[in-house]
Amino acid sequence: MRRTRIAGAMAGIALAALALTACNSGSPTSPGTGGDGGGETGGDEALWEVATDVSLEGSPTFDTMTERGSVIVGVKNDQPGLGFEDATTGERTGFDVDIARWIAASLGFDEDQIEYQTIPSANREQAIVNGDIDYYVGTYSITDARKEQIDFAGPYFITGQGLLVAADNEDINGPDDLAGKIVCSVTGSTPLQRIRDEYSPGDTVEYDTYSQCVEQLKAGAVDAITTDEAILAGYVALEPDALKIAGEPFSEERYGVGLAKGDTALKDHINGLFTDGNDVWSALFEQHLAPAGIEGEQPEVDQ
Ligand code: GLU
Repeated sequence: MRRTRIAGAMAGIALAALALTACNSGSPTSPGTGGDGGGETGGDEALWEVATDVSLEGSPTFDTMTERGSVIVGVKNDQPGLGFEDATTGERTGFDVDIARWIAASLGFDEDQIEYQTIPSANREQAIVNGDIDYYVGTYSITDARKEQIDFAGPYFITGQGLLVAADNEDINGPDDLAGKIVCSVTGSTPLQRIRDEYSPGDTVEYDTYSQCVEQLKAGAVDAITTDEAILAGYVALEPDALKIAGEPFSEERYGVGLAKGDTALKDHINGLFTDGNDVWSALFEQHLAPAGIEGEQPEVDQ
């Protein structure tokens, strides 16, 4: 199964690199200014160019973007390594954010023409259905229930549901150890649903964001957090002395790009970008996720 795994040992130097990216600084992948490309990785090398003369026949979303002269993307802002916003500088970083930028560039839009909207898990389908955003990139699992309202391009990444506990917790080593325990997750997420449907935690509490759950865990108000390991690894990388992942992943979460139902032209375009873009994918993975000890490979897109 092509599922990302969290490597057992994480190199301190890599953690420092992630912490730096998440907490601090400028995105090493800040797209270039002007129209001549972006996705720079620390050095001068651009990972992608901003496409020119794009035509995407039969895509209502692309028509809207073109008319507007900008792209509105839905993202997360509190998931280090994936979708993170620096509270001081407003800078957005992470694997998902760069996937969103890469897509925008492939459609002819540079960084100056991207507007980011932070949208929590529970509001994603509605934001897409309403046309509030053009597409969504933020740890968004492809599910049949969601596909009733929207379409997905991808998957572009695969991870699995896991558990985050305090670093000194010895009694939770998997989802079967949750009897009598309070588990925190996010409203509208697949992990919250699964932990309720398939396991027997003492109780569950839900918030809008995972960072709220992390605060609750550190305050001792909950015993564990459950969501995708790729998300949990980002929190551990920031506070390895306080937090740890307990046990093995117990689901498969296939991340897709959420878009308007029926916009097959846009979906095919994004899938083509992923299929042809293994080098870009690998560079983004190495930059954003590998430092947190996440292992994985690029999945094939759905047909
Ligand atoms: N991937 C899961 C989901 O889409 C959990 C992560 C999230 O809430 O974004 O529900």
